[in-house]
Amino acid sequence: MNTQIISPTTLIIDAIPHPVFPGAILPKWVAAAEAKGFDIVGRIIDRLHLALRCRLCGATQKVRLFTLMSAQPLCQSCLLADWRKNAVASGLTFLRRDPSHRHYAFYLSPCGHEVRRQFELVRRIGAGVTGFRCETCHATIEQKEAELRGWHLTSADPSGNPNYRIYTHTACGHDQRIARANMQSGRFSCGGCGKDWPGAASYVYAMAFTLASGREVVKLGFSRDPDSRLTYQLRRDNEMPCQILRVVPMATGHAALCAEKAMHKELKQAHPAAALDPAAWRGQIRVKTEIYDGSLTPVILGLLDVLEASATAA
Ligand SMILES: [Zn+2]
Ligand SMILES: [Zn+2]
Ligand SMILES: [Zn+2]
Repeated sequence: MNTQIISPTTLIIDAIPHPVFPGAILPKWVAAAEAKGFDIVGRIIDRLHLALRCRLCGATQKVRLFTLMSAQPLCQSCLLADWRKNAVASGLTFLRRDPSHRHYAFYLSPCGHEVRRQFELVRRIGAGVTGFRCETCHATIEQKEAELRGWHLTSADPSGNPNYRIYTHTACGHDQRIARANMQSGRFSCGGCGKDWPGAASYVYAMAFTLASGREVVKLGFSRDPDSRLTYQLRRDNEMPCQILRVVPMATGHAALCAEKAMHKELKQAHPAAALDPAAWRGQIRVKTEIYDGSLTPVILGLLDVLEASATAA
């Protein structure tokens, strides 16, 4: 146990010696302690303090007589066991209490970063009520997203909206409040230099996916930003192997749409069996039509070659 009696005059609790205080232990104190899950070990320090032993875990601690008589004393050792248990259930490791706030502690996150969290929040994470994310790791992810678009993540939203951030355009230095979702998808333009990113043109693209079944499939489509479409819209599972095979820049979105439609028509006529049953990719790729068997890839790339030649010539 954490208690040690080295002499009739000294009681050691958690390695800290406390003088034993002479005097009677009143029956009403004993009754109160019992009712609250403790045994009285003895009186310590002065007439205001007792040493109480937790009946649940056996640990002894210093408690004010007033606290015993007016409230429910908390067993620090049971609390610590609880915090540790909640941390484990949340995938975290309890490190230490935060001395500056009694409701907070420091934990080790599975990524290796130290995080400060409220005890109650950790309990809720463990119970599956809410999720956990490491702010250090997350900031890195968001910074990379912005850099990919030629912007820099500068600060949180001054008006406190969790969906917005302040970003700085690397090219012109302009600070702008942009929704994170728009930064991810590229659907915004710079208020400083007026430039859309990555440009107003559209692209016809071919993308390859490997379905969970192992089947290779190919998608033909058009988008102002094929990278973003692939990363943030089409894929349901980030682990799904996929890549952009080819993009052909088009002068306008309308030209891209027309070219794409014409190609689908041609493919359907020439290779009616190559279009996949939507059941094959449902739940894996977010799209309603236009997925072909991977064997059609050379044909599609051939069509894109022809398109590029004509788009360049136009
Ligand atoms: Zn206890
Ligand atoms: Zn982390
Ligand atoms: Zn700009």
